[in-house]
Amino acid sequence: MPVTAPCYICGKKSVIDGLCATCYDEGHPLIEISTPLTLLACKKCGAIKVPGGWRKVSSRYESPEELADYQIDIVLQNEIKYLVDDVSISLEEIRKLDRVTHLVIQAIGKSHEKLPLHEEKYPVEIRFSYGTCDTCGMLSGGYYEVTLQIRADGRELNDTERRDIEKLVTNMTVAKYTSDDKAFVTSMTEDKYGLDILIGSENLGKTIADELEARYLAERKENYKLIGEDKTGKRKYRITILIRLPRFSVGDFVLVDERPCQILAMTRNNLTCFDLKSRARFTMNPQSARWRTLQFLTPQSESREFMIVTHVYGQPVQIMDSTNFVITYVDEDLFEGEINTGSKIFGVVFEDRLYLLPTQNQNNENEV
Ligand SMILES: [Zn+2]
Ligand SMILES: [Zn+2]
Repeated sequence: MPVTAPCYICGKKSVIDGLCATCYDEGHPLIEISTPLTLLACKKCGAIKVPGGWRKVSSRYESPEELADYQIDIVLQNEIKYLVDDVSISLEEIRKLDRVTHLVIQAIGKSHEKLPLHEEKYPVEIRFSYGTCDTCGMLSGGYYEVTLQIRADGRELNDTERRDIEKLVTNMTVAKYTSDDKAFVTSMTEDKYGLDILIGSENLGKTIADELEARYLAERKENYKLIGEDKTGKRKYRITILIRLPRFSVGDFVLVDERPCQILAMTRNNLTCFDLKSRARFTMNPQSARWRTLQFLTPQSESREFMIVTHVYGQPVQIMDSTNFVITYVDEDLFEGEINTGSKIFGVVFEDRLYLLPTQNQNNENEV
């Protein structure tokens, strides 16, 4: 049996590299962390300065303490240097003053694969200081790269469209918030013609424009204006993107191939129509040949409400206009579902002919 020399530091039985486990662990720490550490936080949004930029606080926090804990975690993630793999870290807060927190970092791991787990403790002092992050600075300075003008062709934007567009802009901005420093809306103004939205980042502005263009089957125009040069001499542009929604919206009447149709739904790149003559539903997209024949006919407000007065099987159905009480007869084949006396139906008149509207669209004019 080879004779092992004792630990050359303390004289105990050596295990590795001529050292006992304790002396080896001491010479090979699990982590490295310096103290004191400075934590620079944005006083407006709580973002933390990290090497290369600002890290945003993505979730909502119940209390300032919870936010401070999260900020400390971010700083430690950046500051703790791991010297071996598989180290587990826990924190213990020792003392908390207004702008200084003292804590102890506990690290558990193996300094060598042949040695058992051991624990190390590092007292750390965190000093809070406050400033303004890039995003909050640009936002308060009114910075923007894109003006998004949203209009509708030959009409005003309706309330549903305004509401849906505002929601979409908010959601898409929030989704980019942590990854794009300029993902903010500088201002959103509304007049009778539409919405003007100033957006911090070109990338976000274009992404929103793409989505609106597809969702509303809208026209798009971009206009670049040179506003100067940045520090590196690169030309800086401000972009105005005009998104023009079509004349029609859901519920309105159009002509497709010269046939009167009602628009039932508008989804990404797709329009669902109801042919009022053949009573068939069909879809088309802006690339289809039929799209070029599309003409606005009349708004949904032109549709009229009727009440079914009498119905005898095999006979035309007697209906009464709810506004002027005029009685009309319509073929019973035109009804899609059951024909119940006293129930309401909707119809529209073109060129002296009454067309009944599809059942599913009668009472949901506010849904899109
Ligand atoms: Zn030793
Ligand atoms: Zn901020």
